[in-house]
Amino acid sequence: MMPLSRKILAVSIAAATVWTASTAAAAPLPGTPPTTVTASESARTATVPAAPSTRRADHVVLLALDGFDVEYLDLVRDGDGSPGAAEMPNLRALLREGSVTTSSGVMTSITNPSWSSVATGAWPETHRNTAYWFDAASNTARGQQRDLAVPTIAQSVREQGGTVFSAQWFILQNYGVTFGDPDGLYTQPGGDCARRTDDVVSVLRGEPVSSNGELVRTTGIPDLITVYCDTLDAIGHAGGDADPRIPGALEDIDRQIGRIVAATKEAGVHEDTAFVVTGDHGMTTFDKGFAAEGLAAIEAAGFTPQVLTSGQTPAAGTDVAVVGGVADVRIIGERAGDRAAVRRLERALTALPQVRNVFDKADQRRLRMSPNYGDLVVEPEPGWSFGPTPATPAGRHGATTELRVPLVLAGAGVRPGAHPRGPRHVDVAPTISALLGYAPPSGSEGRVLREALSR
Ligand SMILES: [Zn+2]
Repeated sequence: MMPLSRKILAVSIAAATVWTASTAAAAPLPGTPPTTVTASESARTATVPAAPSTRRADHVVLLALDGFDVEYLDLVRDGDGSPGAAEMPNLRALLREGSVTTSSGVMTSITNPSWSSVATGAWPETHRNTAYWFDAASNTARGQQRDLAVPTIAQSVREQGGTVFSAQWFILQNYGVTFGDPDGLYTQPGGDCARRTDDVVSVLRGEPVSSNGELVRTTGIPDLITVYCDTLDAIGHAGGDADPRIPGALEDIDRQIGRIVAATKEAGVHEDTAFVVTGDHGMTTFDKGFAAEGLAAIEAAGFTPQVLTSGQTPAAGTDVAVVGGVADVRIIGERAGDRAAVRRLERALTALPQVRNVFDKADQRRLRMSPNYGDLVVEPEPGWSFGPTPATPAGRHGATTELRVPLVLAGAGVRPGAHPRGPRHVDVAPTISALLGYAPPSGSEGRVLREALSR
């Protein structure tokens, strides 16, 4: 007989995979309006800390895995030793106390805007963190940054009297956690996932950790503990989503899950701790670039385009700025705001066989994207990038084809086997808040995944 753990994992993963397969063809977009929140869930009305009786977990551990594509779960086998498979016994043990489902991210599916939505519960149109875009105000192309227009869950928990620890989940740094603060401590130890997990284990043991060189002890075991690992993203970029090192990286992550769970048991808080594991974006492989064809099409439509990298200012005469592999395209100079020109540009780009979607401003609003993006956002077909052709196949994300990540909910306050319905990045912060008995972050637009929580 198949052990219960494996059965649960198999069922959960099957559900996630079926969801992926059945919706992939329809190119699901994240722009559906958020589920209406009740008054008590609404951050804008619920600024008073929730009553202690609503607390379901004393602690939440969030494992934030960069580039954790949902299809990597297909690599997790039932412990039958399949070649190329990843053994994840600690994840499987967690799932006995919860579930894994497919969570949907935000556009663009790039690291900082995506983690910003996980951390704030807000869509990019609200938190406004934007990646790889042309900033018309400063006449400069911009890469990634950490600007946020609304508070993170760390700020929210702190404001309500709670405590937070972040082992290198950088999106929280100086937004509720900082170096040297025992109530909201940030550590940036560098190193791999195991090194970052070392700090989580130390905090659970009540031992001090190095925070920018200073040894600091947190105030008790924090309400919210986060740890960030980027191994999967690094491997995915280097070799694509089928890189043979991915199963090994998953097994290493599983060892870190095991260490954290063991440390909660050692500290006597395991029964009161919920575990959340999720990613920011998925990963697909590309081996072809179409920068030359893309620029030629823009020129043929009567423009003078220029590809700009972060920090770059356009040359004199440039009237179309292009930034990023999922390209932000903006008409600049005297023709800025010319709607007929935008339509002509859109037609030229849509006609390219390498282009999957061209999102105009109306599409961007529907997708709840940052208003900082330009006239058009061009997403390539799978296998392509709006850039040069790489020497060997590489990984990409940023498009609607890399929106899906796993969401694991387990432990205190979570109903075993109860799968959240259609979870999204914006639902994670409200759900963690509900587990801890706090109001969600004030800019939050997601919902509490109540169906997956115990009453
Ligand atoms: Zn990445």
